[in-house]
Amino acid sequence: NDKVVIVTGGGQGIGRCIAQTFAEKGAKVVIADIDDEAGIENEKYIKSKGGDCLFVHTDVSLEEDVRNLVDKTIKTYGKIDILINNAGIGSGGTIYTRPMEEWDRVINVNLRGTYMCSKYVAPHMRDNGGGVIINIASTRAFMSEPHTEPYSASKGGIIALTHSLAISLSYDKIRVNSISPGWIEVSEWKKSREAKKPQLTEEDHLQHPAGRVGKPEDVANACLFLCSEEASFITGANLIVDGGMTVKMIYV
Ligand code: NAD
Repeated sequence: NDKVVIVTGGGQGIGRCIAQTFAEKGAKVVIADIDDEAGIENEKYIKSKGGDCLFVHTDVSLEEDVRNLVDKTIKTYGKIDILINNAGIGSGGTIYTRPMEEWDRVINVNLRGTYMCSKYVAPHMRDNGGGVIINIASTRAFMSEPHTEPYSASKGGIIALTHSLAISLSYDKIRVNSISPGWIEVSEWKKSREAKKPQLTEEDHLQHPAGRVGKPEDVANACLFLCSEEASFITGANLIVDGGMTVKMIYV
């Protein structure tokens, strides 16, 4: 189809797969990534398969970069139908050692970036009669391993931001949903310099009720569904794509 899709963090990992999946369906894909090498590599790959694609260097936590991303998209393709807020980072350290700058960095990329991209894209969707925004959250919004405070808090924030945006933007026919992936193995979707085969064990797979660790395609297919006409009654929702891990009760 002729949809114009922005994928943030579209250079590597889940975003790389989402960008390729939408391009295969005929969408015009804008890859927004801070990593030029990864972004340009994915842009070239999509074009080599006959897809229509544009890479725009973007740090989603910087307002001038987000403005530039939206300007370049409108200049090139004339409209924006879909925004996939996928760019995200984790953090190191613990609450005892982590400098506050690290907290700010994670919140700024994951949460502020998601809000800011939505803020600058929404007017164009409104003027074009509607659109779809998908925010990539995480099952870490609901459960934790130790030492993930900035990441978990940012993802919990994204879930709340999603229903808030869904209500505000409903008047302009913009649907807003989030996807919360669980364990998704992305090592085969890194830029070629970093790509390596995953070292997954049987135990890794079998602990999942679905019988396997997740793949970027699982998230990309959920994005396709949420953007489709079949999902026109779904807004403000969070779709968990985790092979059943968050509903599995564990007693050891
Ligand atoms: P990844 O590190 O493989 O890829 C992330 C991409 O985002 C990279 O290309 C990176 O350059 C880009 N990026 C980082 N900071 C950026 C910034 N400031 N501006 C623009 N681009 C930036 O990560 P991934 O595993 O593919 O994760 C993608 C999304 O899915 C993230 O939001 C992550 O939190 C979420 N997620 C991943 C998993 C998983 O198991 N892989 C699970 C749950 C949620």
